[in-house]
Amino acid sequence: MQLHCHAITPKLAAARTFTAPARCPSCDDWMVAPVSSEFVEGGEIRHHWECDACGEASSTVIALETC
Ligand SMILES: [Zn+2]
Repeated sequence: MQLHCHAITPKLAAARTFTAPARCPSCDDWMVAPVSSEFVEGGEIRHHWECDACGEASSTVIALETC
């Protein structure tokens, strides 16, 4: 269903994964909102995090479902 795939833009896909929380790798506290996010060509979202509790910086990569 190519028409359906083209209806989903990278921006929309990013918005849908934007709120997924992550845990700090250092103190295991929840990090609710990423400091920044970027769309990586090829179908990935990269979130950059900074822990409120300990200041640890980390990043996660989420692979988007591709059609
Ligand atoms: Zn932390």
